[in-house]
Amino acid sequence: MSIAVLRLGHRFVRDDRTTTHVALVSRAFGCKKIFMTDVDDSILKTINKVCDDWGGSNEFDIEIIQDWRSLIKSWKRNNGIIVHLTMYGINMEHITLDYEQERNILIVIGASKVPKEVYFMADMNIAIGNQPHSEIAALAIFLDRFFHGKELIYSFQDAKMKIVPSSRGKRVKIRKVKKSN
Ligand code: SAM
Repeated sequence: MSIAVLRLGHRFVRDDRTTTHVALVSRAFGCKKIFMTDVDDSILKTINKVCDDWGGSNEFDIEIIQDWRSLIKSWKRNNGIIVHLTMYGINMEHITLDYEQERNILIVIGASKVPKEVYFMADMNIAIGNQPHSEIAALAIFLDRFFHGKELIYSFQDAKMKIVPSSRGKRVKIRKVKKSN
């Protein structure tokens, strides 16, 4: 089982920071991949730099796609499950997630208005509370509930920089990388 995210929509410049944060949450909280639509290369560069420094280059993938409908359809054909996070869905508090062991999950989150068909293509529309808030918060809470907090202690093998957790101050261990000739 693995989890990927589809970030549906992106308003040029206005959403740069939000989309970047959605990708950072995906990486940090246990997803294997993020598919993004309508973004430019600068967001890709930012995320790749984070993976390069803090790890995840071999474990977290980013793909910019044009055709999200085809992605959703092929995901379902391959027995994957589509979870759309929306305030209009069933409150996560009232759901038991019992498919987590077997099936790959694609979490769909929107930017502005999500096309109506997504609500029907999804196997499940899940609300992180039935109030409007943010895709970053919705994704983070969903993943935290899904992984029961275990994502918080995951560490990437290929990290060049690792934080030494400190109750005061800042400590970072830097791994020296040998340059090849
Ligand atoms: N008005 C937009 C709509 O009708 O789709 C919502 C825009 S909201 C800023 C962006 C995204 O945040 C949504 O598409 C959804 O994925 C997520 N989101 C916001 N509130 C949510 C909630 N209560 N539960 C789950 N997801 C939520």
